[in-house]
Amino acid sequence: MNNRRPIIAGNWKMNKTIAEAVTLIRDIRSGVREIMTVETVVCPPFVALSAVAEVLSHSHIAVAAQNVFYEESGAFTGEISAPMLEGLVDYCIIGHSERRNIFGESDEWVNKKAKALLAHGIIPIICVGESLEQNQAGETDSFVRQQVTAALAGLNADQVASLVIAYEPIWAIGTGLTATPAEANRIIGLTIRGTIADLYGENTAQAVRIQYGGSAKPANIVELMMQPDIDGALVGGASLKADSFVDMVRKTAQLYR
Ligand code: PEP
Repeated sequence: MNNRRPIIAGNWKMNKTIAEAVTLIRDIRSGVREIMTVETVVCPPFVALSAVAEVLSHSHIAVAAQNVFYEESGAFTGEISAPMLEGLVDYCIIGHSERRNIFGESDEWVNKKAKALLAHGIIPIICVGESLEQNQAGETDSFVRQQVTAALAGLNADQVASLVIAYEPIWAIGTGLTATPAEANRIIGLTIRGTIADLYGENTAQAVRIQYGGSAKPANIVELMMQPDIDGALVGGASLKADSFVDMVRKTAQLYR
């Protein structure tokens, strides 16, 4: 058993109007009310962040943004900066494969975004993961190692220890396909934690929380969370209904009693 508090985060992506977000978060709030051993995080779209944060003002559920731009302010039409999110969110997802692939987000940007968030007291949830082609070509370890190294460039050990990393094989996102729990654990433990140990030492590597993401759902969460190096899940589709998301948090909590 390690000291890392498990963290289950629901990434709502581009779903839910403000009214729908409020309904969803009320249901999630009542479903996880007494659960303290597992950290529950919701990642609504930007426009619903304030309304969701208000519902959660006396709750232990944390709020995350799904993206940020690395500049503080200026002529960046449509973007949101870290100072705008400060005080509103606890976490922010960066480097999600949808942002990397659809919006061309580079490793360099992910690194700049991590630094911008940390400068404003927001914890980055940094997503990494390989494509199906890379997986089939046996390139997963080298690719993920390089993504992690690039994302962390210039951060100090304390900053790295505070981070959350999500290992999300792209071929498992929204497809119903999941990495086997043993394989996800191997990549999270040996490749990701191993890279951090090489760069920052074993203590830092053991402090970082690393989630699995990619078709995580109530039916597979227990097997995933029983793996020693998997500290949580970043959940897409199964986080859009209160029942399934709450079920995942509750099943995880049962493992940490
Ligand atoms: C995600 O987008 O981060 C994700 C893991 O999605 P899903 O759970 O739907 O595969």
